[in-house]
Amino acid sequence: MGRELPTLEPTLVLQGKGYREVLKREMDAGKIPLSLGKKCPVECSFCYELDHSYRETNDPPKTTQDDWEFILNYINAKPTDPLQYWCLGGNEYMEWTDLFLHPRAMEWVEDFLRHTDKNIQFFTVGFVHVPKIHQLAEQYPGRINFELSVITLSPYRQQLMPHAPSVRHLMKVLDGPAVSSANFYAFGEQTMSRDAREIAKINQHCVLWMGCLTPVGGITEATAGIMRRGRKFLAGEAERIYDAGVPNLSTIHTEAYVTAFLNRKRIASAFDALKLEKKDTVVMARSVAKVLNMHRKNRARFLSVPNATLGGDSDCTVLLTFDDIRQRLTGEKRLHIPKCVMESGRGPNMDIRGVTLEEFTNKTGVKVKVLHKIDTTFANARLYRNGTLKNFVEDYVRNPWSAEYEALPLSA
Ligand code: SF4
Repeated sequence: MGRELPTLEPTLVLQGKGYREVLKREMDAGKIPLSLGKKCPVECSFCYELDHSYRETNDPPKTTQDDWEFILNYINAKPTDPLQYWCLGGNEYMEWTDLFLHPRAMEWVEDFLRHTDKNIQFFTVGFVHVPKIHQLAEQYPGRINFELSVITLSPYRQQLMPHAPSVRHLMKVLDGPAVSSANFYAFGEQTMSRDAREIAKINQHCVLWMGCLTPVGGITEATAGIMRRGRKFLAGEAERIYDAGVPNLSTIHTEAYVTAFLNRKRIASAFDALKLEKKDTVVMARSVAKVLNMHRKNRARFLSVPNATLGGDSDCTVLLTFDDIRQRLTGEKRLHIPKCVMESGRGPNMDIRGVTLEEFTNKTGVKVKVLHKIDTTFANARLYRNGTLKNFVEDYVRNPWSAEYEALPLSA
């Protein structure tokens, strides 16, 4: 039936509008939308933006001082939430780039800290000015969340990100108070574990955010092969770090099937609380379906939906689209869909492409009951709560049940 139904297309909202509309939409979603006015020149081969054709974008020209004042005034007029971190860079209606390549970025980050009472968050592969970023972290404690995308210090670095800053520069960025968390991944033996030890030698306070990179659509097979290779080594690499006892808070996050397993009890209890009946059909990503097939088999019909829009090996309920769901329909009249599918930053009741729940129900004729308790807050809490390295090693790598779980097929 899925193939007979028309493809769901998002309503285009930027056509005929100026680029400040893009800026406003991004700011309404909590972003600080600076623009380089061109594609990201770092050209990492694993970049998730290589194919962003699934969503409507309209990249603004390079941000000028005039644009910056507009941005600052617009954000300043918004109420301050002390728990909110404004993210440097838009990625809903524009393309994600490394914004520290904008020549004014450091100066504007300082402006933001000085002229607003809001917090800021940024991700970069390391193009920051070293003394300045440490000075700002000292001057504005608690207001900066700096996520440094180390990716790898191993020889894979040259292959995956030939235009990124040198390892030497990264170590200077890490040596001081600025970095809140450093993310890096397993690609083979002595990659992630060696990086963890090297980073911990010079910075014991930043969080080590580790795992594997997940290939998505647009990434070449050669790069996807390097990313997938890491999975074979993840357990051994994690054990090496665990046994080394690095002092940093250490997390393993990026493998969906692992996250689902580590949260199996909470997933099962959240399912029980929904009080669904056997005949009810519930939409979910493949890893969640795998866990529920193990613990709550036949208690409802689990519609396991691949992330066809993002492609590659993505496996995430939050990033499912209504069109992914449409492709899996086989005559269902009624579906239960988690709220998190329609909480994207593009707007209310929209998936990550900008298709609304209403468009889905109108075009497919399927009635939808929204599972409000399974929202983004719930999904994020699951991602973080059990994502420590300790938990991964003790409850997954060294848990005899995990081998049985891994052997189960993904039900898609
Ligand atoms: S620096 Fe970031 S945005 Fe730029 S190519 Fe690399 S991953 Fe993509």
